[in-house]
Amino acid sequence: MNQDPAGLNLTGLARTPGAQRSWWLREALAREDRGAAPPLAGDVNADVAIVGGGFTGLWTAYFLTQANPGLGVAVVEQDICGGGPSGRNGGFASGWWDELHGLMNLYGPEGAVKACRAISDSITAIGEFCDGNGVDAWFKKAGYMYAVTAPAHEPTCKAMVDLAREVGLPEELRELTEAEVRARCASPAFLAGAFMRDGASVQPGFLVRGLRRVVMERGVRIYEGTAVTGLKPGPPAILTTPNGSLRAKHVVLALNAWATGWPQLSRRLVAWSSYIVLTAPAPERLAEIGWTGGELISDFRTSLRYFRTTADGRIAFGGGGGRARRTIDDAFTHDARAVEQAAEGFRLMFPTFADVPIEDGWGGPIDVSPTHLPVFGTLEPGNVFYALGYTGNGVAPSHLAGQVLADLATGRDTDTVRLPMVNPRPRLFPPQPFRSWGAAVVRQAMIAKETAEEQGRKPGLIVSELARMPRRMGYLLGPD
Ligand SMILES: Cc1cc2nc3c(=O)[nH]c(=O)nc-3n(C[C@H](O)[C@H](O)[C@H](O)COP(=O)(O)OP(=O)(O)OC[C@H]3O[C@@H](n4cnc5c(N)ncnc54)[C@H](O)[C@@H]3O)c2cc1C
Repeated sequence: MNQDPAGLNLTGLARTPGAQRSWWLREALAREDRGAAPPLAGDVNADVAIVGGGFTGLWTAYFLTQANPGLGVAVVEQDICGGGPSGRNGGFASGWWDELHGLMNLYGPEGAVKACRAISDSITAIGEFCDGNGVDAWFKKAGYMYAVTAPAHEPTCKAMVDLAREVGLPEELRELTEAEVRARCASPAFLAGAFMRDGASVQPGFLVRGLRRVVMERGVRIYEGTAVTGLKPGPPAILTTPNGSLRAKHVVLALNAWATGWPQLSRRLVAWSSYIVLTAPAPERLAEIGWTGGELISDFRTSLRYFRTTADGRIAFGGGGGRARRTIDDAFTHDARAVEQAAEGFRLMFPTFADVPIEDGWGGPIDVSPTHLPVFGTLEPGNVFYALGYTGNGVAPSHLAGQVLADLATGRDTDTVRLPMVNPRPRLFPPQPFRSWGAAVVRQAMIAKETAEEQGRKPGLIVSELARMPRRMGYLLGPD
């Protein structure tokens, strides 16, 4: 084990993020006896072609084959299924009751509650999927605790709880005192908080690979190691790849942050990186701080810190740093500084774990939308469908996206396609290069502002103004 100069107690693995897959995915791949699916070669046909083999693409394939087992469905993935964020995330399948403010602003109270209920159903359905298909993805529904770590966040916490009461559902989100927060997890950084009962943890690597197995058993064709380089929508649509093409009546773009490179979608998102560190097993330490209930926990920062325990007594701790970038490059997976920032956050919140080594660290891109919430929809000429803008909260919403995209592609008129986040008025970021420059500057300002607040310092005027810029420009992002 290496003791690094900053005293973060990182092991060798965490020093070289990106040199290996996430711990979740390594564990999942170690249980499998078959390798990657072969790449696409030659010219092939399908009824529905899906680009991207993460949760969105695979849930879409799942729901398509559920509705119509005879449908020819093909998934094209540049890496292996789950190689992207779906196999690298924190495993928070969390409710949307904390998003009521944004949802009400966009869709009104009734639409907002409908959207929250749909996500609640998805969380339950993910657990049922695991039970029904022999997928042991450590699904555990123990709720989500928000922890206030700076007095500046207290009004946000209160407003969030008040909104749940306002829509008549106070049981979904309730305020916690400092003692109640610390009874669930005794971190000295926690000042107060709130508890949302909708929240389940999963081992995302097991879930995404289990989903891949299930759709393959249903006859879905998967081409891995195959990057789609072009799309002619047709109809029929033609996807081009380095060694062949895929012709299909319908195409689903399940690209997450890679959509920044697709002209049809690029102005609907910016890509930010997020990193996670993972400790060695320390179940006795978790018992000492009383964190044995399996709750998901996060703070209130925009550069959110989120953390959860694992079945073998580790803590996975994410966020706190990261960068905004124009293209999806190594900065999203190989950024050692971002790993250190996540580790610093962990050491700050869990000082009694100072001698517990951090054994792993990894990162990935998140697709930040102008509203902080995802949208699902149809592109011209009507046979291309997409989901994007999860903004780092896609584990449960991608399940819903799969239902929506499957229904849109098969033309089914269901309650799901009438949800307000299906084909809403497009909200766009500024064109490049302003989008990337602006995102990079604002992201750094948000981190600086929130760090100052947490350390009891007053953030500088310029930093505060820059951090508030997105709200002033009408985006539902960052501090008010
Ligand atoms: C570090 C981190 C932590 C996170 N933590 C959480 C969390 O705890 N809870 C939560 O809800 N969300 C979390 N998220 C977000 C969550 O992981 C995503 O929202 C979710 O996985 C989105 O699923 P997806 O299938 O849309 O995207 P992805 O899993 O990214 O799948 C998209 C796939 O498309 C492929 N692709 C892209 N371009 C092409 C192309 N041209 N040709 C072929 N294939 C292509 C990519 O390789 C990728 O596999 C986190 C994200 C990160 C990075």
